[in-house]
Amino acid sequence: MPTLRFQALKETLGRSAVKVDEPGRRSEIYSQNVFNESMMRQFLTKEAYENVREAIQTGKKIDRSVADHISTGMKEWAISKGVTHYTHWFQPLTGATAEKHDSFFEPIGDGTAIEKFGGGQLVQQEPDASSFPSGGIRNTFEARGYTAWDPTSPAFIWGTTLCIPTVFVSYTGEALDNKTPLLRALQAVDHAATDVCKYFDKNVKKVNSTLGWEQEYFLIDSALAASRPDITLTGRTLLGHSPAKGQQLDDHYFGSIPSRAISFMMDLEIECMKLGIPVKTRHNEVAPNQFELAPIFEEANLAVDHNSLIMDVMKKVGERHHLTVLMHEKPFAGINGSGKHNNWSLATDTGVNLLSPGSTPMKNLQFLTFFINTIKAVYDYEELLRASIASASNDHRLGANEAPPAIISVFIGSQLTKVLDELEKVTDGKLSPQEKTDLKLNVVGKIPEILRDNTDRNRTSSFAFTGNKFEFRAVGSIANCAGAMTVLNSIVAKQLRDFKKEVDKLVKNKKMKKDDAIFNVLREYIKKSKKIRFEGDGYSEAWEKEAAKRGLSNNKNTPTALKAQVSKKTIDLYKELEVMNKTEIEARHEIELEEYAMRIQIEGRVLGDIARNHVIPTAIRYQNLLIENVRGLKEIYGEDFARHGKEQLEILESISSHIAIINSKINAMIEARKVANKIEEVEERAFAYCDDVKPYFDEIRYHCDKLELLIDDELWPLTKYRELLFTR
Ligand code: ADP
Ligand code: MG
Repeated sequence: MPTLRFQALKETLGRSAVKVDEPGRRSEIYSQNVFNESMMRQFLTKEAYENVREAIQTGKKIDRSVADHISTGMKEWAISKGVTHYTHWFQPLTGATAEKHDSFFEPIGDGTAIEKFGGGQLVQQEPDASSFPSGGIRNTFEARGYTAWDPTSPAFIWGTTLCIPTVFVSYTGEALDNKTPLLRALQAVDHAATDVCKYFDKNVKKVNSTLGWEQEYFLIDSALAASRPDITLTGRTLLGHSPAKGQQLDDHYFGSIPSRAISFMMDLEIECMKLGIPVKTRHNEVAPNQFELAPIFEEANLAVDHNSLIMDVMKKVGERHHLTVLMHEKPFAGINGSGKHNNWSLATDTGVNLLSPGSTPMKNLQFLTFFINTIKAVYDYEELLRASIASASNDHRLGANEAPPAIISVFIGSQLTKVLDELEKVTDGKLSPQEKTDLKLNVVGKIPEILRDNTDRNRTSSFAFTGNKFEFRAVGSIANCAGAMTVLNSIVAKQLRDFKKEVDKLVKNKKMKKDDAIFNVLREYIKKSKKIRFEGDGYSEAWEKEAAKRGLSNNKNTPTALKAQVSKKTIDLYKELEVMNKTEIEARHEIELEEYAMRIQIEGRVLGDIARNHVIPTAIRYQNLLIENVRGLKEIYGEDFARHGKEQLEILESISSHIAIINSKINAMIEARKVANKIEEVEERAFAYCDDVKPYFDEIRYHCDKLELLIDDELWPLTKYRELLFTR
């Protein structure tokens, strides 16, 4: 009897790599489907073009009268590329992206029709968005929400649709999406960083936050993925015994890429090129069938959009190759999970990376200023940073079976540690000319050299300095980077504001020279933020103990971690920076808790169904085979049968006991769900799912996995780990 598993395996084994043709030089197709500057210059009037540029550079609103010119130009460009529809493309709080396509086509009443796309349609739209999560915002304020064009992220074409990146807000202005708070945070960090830059270079007018993400993912044959209800419904396997061979040989990492995967990657890269996503790196990751993709870094808002877009494009391209892309943080137990490293820095409009040391002592002091302020920001807001990456799926990585830990710490390497140790000794008050010269020559001046041969790497740190940027490693692979980026840029903005105030105060009240004041404030910051710095093994138990002693948080699950999102400290922070008001903050908290509870609920249901409808019936079928066998033995050997059938009888009993436990645990889990579902208060409900429902998963799984080992392979209905991970 061919089960879905065997059908899927047969289908998979018959596949070969889909041929992909390079459409020419990559540099030639780059950005071909993007309404970028060069296209704008070509398709817009001079006035319209200047307006968009100004909007991009200064955030100035676009004039309604000009909007009509822009939309017309955009439409002409799009139609010249075969486009028929347009959509406002936005990022609701579901974490996915959303779009509703409308046609350009418009009948004009005399039996003919035209293509129309007005300024109004470009600038603002009202999607029927009542089923997007709003955390009650729209109930409390206005029923409707609208999307509005974000000119800082260029429009692009996917298929035959013109996609216009937009924010999604309620009529009273509350953010209903991921992009709005991010844009506000980016503006806050721009202003704060520009002000601090002026100590060093008066010409700086704008500071951009930069983001280079690295996306990890698994590729599984789509027939195999479809044969597993848990993968289909939850994006991960809820059961499955570890294969005899896992990743212990390290023979996949950076190894030669399997041919079907390489076809997929080529195809994906070509699509990315056309969409203006500057993908650069591709390679195998640690786990079997795990891969990574990384672009060159970009301005953070654009990079976030590109990541959201690429996650979508990956799925679509995967379909062409009969591959399912698993973006979940932990699709397989016992095997490395996936993350999305967020490489972050700040760059001035004069072309300086503020986390890269420069050629003069002054530039290096500027580097140190941004470097130390970032460390201090992370120290002060480590819990909020932890909250920004919390989700049901990322809980499987953070603080669970694998790295990085749920503790946020900063790694800077031994050389920079020495520099900070030196700076800690700076005189309190005015510095003598001798001390200053000495500092400039021997400490600050040495930094470029130090970093040039900085080979210090620590893979276990959640927030590591890697030469010219910080790398936030704990972000989940399926997450929208906007969450982490909103927090990181906000806390650094806040820190830089405080820094400026303190320096200015010393200059004014203590009559200090500017750089004396900077050294003084930095010295105090180094002392104050020391506890967040950790150079050792972040995965060790010793670090957990040490971190607890230092008073660092170690929030191991989502409901606990999310508390920091609504603390007074967070509310004050976002209020000061105008990133989010209390309503928006609380709405997000509610949405994330709700989502957490729902995810665990769905997983619980799916696990219960599979265990009951797939595993137990299979176990019973196999038991029947054994019973038949024993009965036969009895016929042949009479009372002596027990000697010949000893093993069979043992297996029979063992199966019975596993079945009994699975069944009773499923019942108990269902009861726990019923109790949880009755809880009105969302945080309490999330905790009930976390503490009372989720623990059953491991117990049920353990016994199902034992059965997998006992039962005849031919009867087992669920595609096994070795098949999912090693079939290519
Ligand atoms: P790895 O972490 O694998 O060792 P690299 O050090 O080569 O990788 O860089 C990783 C990522 O860092 C790349 O995706 C790159 O785009 C990004 N990156 C490099 N410089 C910056 C920067 N100034 N700002 C943000 N991201 C950056
Ligand atoms: Mg990395």
